[in-house]
Amino acid sequence: MSVAGPTGRTKRITARGTARGRKKTPGAGPQPLSRPDPAALLAWYDRHRRVLPWRAAPGATPDPYRVWLSEIMLQQTTVKAVGPYYARFLARFPSVEALAEAPLDDVLKCWAGLGYYARARNLHACAQTVMTRHGGRFPDTEAALQTLPGVGPYTAAAIAAIAFDRKASPVDGNIERVIARLYAVADPLPDAKPVIRERAAALTPERRAGDFAQGVMDLGAAICTPKQPACIVCPWSSACAAAREGAAESYPRKAAKAAGRLRRGAAFVVVRQDGFVLVRRRPETGLLGGMTEVPTTPWTHDFDDGTALGAAPHLATSSSPARWRRIAGLVTHTFTHFPLELVTYTACVPPGTPASDGMWWAALDDLAGEALPNVMRKVLTHADVLRAPGRPTAPERTASRESHRTSRTS
Ligand code: SF4
Repeated sequence: MSVAGPTGRTKRITARGTARGRKKTPGAGPQPLSRPDPAALLAWYDRHRRVLPWRAAPGATPDPYRVWLSEIMLQQTTVKAVGPYYARFLARFPSVEALAEAPLDDVLKCWAGLGYYARARNLHACAQTVMTRHGGRFPDTEAALQTLPGVGPYTAAAIAAIAFDRKASPVDGNIERVIARLYAVADPLPDAKPVIRERAAALTPERRAGDFAQGVMDLGAAICTPKQPACIVCPWSSACAAAREGAAESYPRKAAKAAGRLRRGAAFVVVRQDGFVLVRRRPETGLLGGMTEVPTTPWTHDFDDGTALGAAPHLATSSSPARWRRIAGLVTHTFTHFPLELVTYTACVPPGTPASDGMWWAALDDLAGEALPNVMRKVLTHADVLRAPGRPTAPERTASRESHRTSRTS
């Protein structure tokens, strides 16, 4: 592997993580590992810290609202994916007060696409709790933070350390990887988590705990990457047991994961000719709780496409019953615990057709702004109702044909 050294020149790294050509002392055995030095990590962080929209500039006081918001958004998601959502969210809800006062539906709409929608509802509930029980100020200890909706041990530690400089040790995926390698933790995840947490806590300095946590996060993102870590430029290379073994990439060890069982179902996309699509709200609790969706069958292991239309929404059209058309192909989506395959049926109904029980007509023009989870965006794109990049939708193509016809005859 080649990596840039501190001078910018590239060096060849052997499987054991050492630069070729380095002179060995004759007869010298392996040098003992030094203790990882938090000060070395902080010095590295001061030079190489990432500039992130939610991170306070060096010397500036962090805003707990921004820290909390980013930590909730970053759970299970990458920094790159969160960036645009964070900017939009902050523009729409610039303070915890603005978020607490907003209707939940607005919050869900702003969140749509980030996944794990229970977090968005907890976010809203947490903002209201901060306003009503804490006078609009986030509590500053791990214990008090953990009493807030949606704030678990990790998030409480991250906010306490980053926003309030408390000695706390959040362990996210990046920190987990760095610590597992630093100490060559042999147990596989998730069993190794308590040991990794202990090691991280023991390493956390009394002062600048927030910078330390963010430094280890940045180290994991930039240097101690899952593949091909750049050990030669790592501030902890002389203290790292995994690098010494030449086996950095093999940590953290992982237990074999059982794949969730496939679930299948059918989705029903009903378009009303005057520019609406039939939708409903999912139950408030459970998977995609409170989000908007087109009606579907239950998602089951033993779904039978032959009887799927029995679960289609009843439509009281003024003329004949709705005619369903099955669209070729499948919509596939992977949730954390299971993969899903959906077949899609579409129907077109006349203007003025009433919505089925418990459902409503959403304007096609506003569909992109609805609180639709990603799987439903895939269904609506597959049904040619939601815009695929660079392509007009079926209703738009129909409108364009109509306008050509009108302009030729007028
Ligand atoms: S020396 Fe390599 S494996 Fe060890 S912490 Fe640094 S980058 Fe990670």
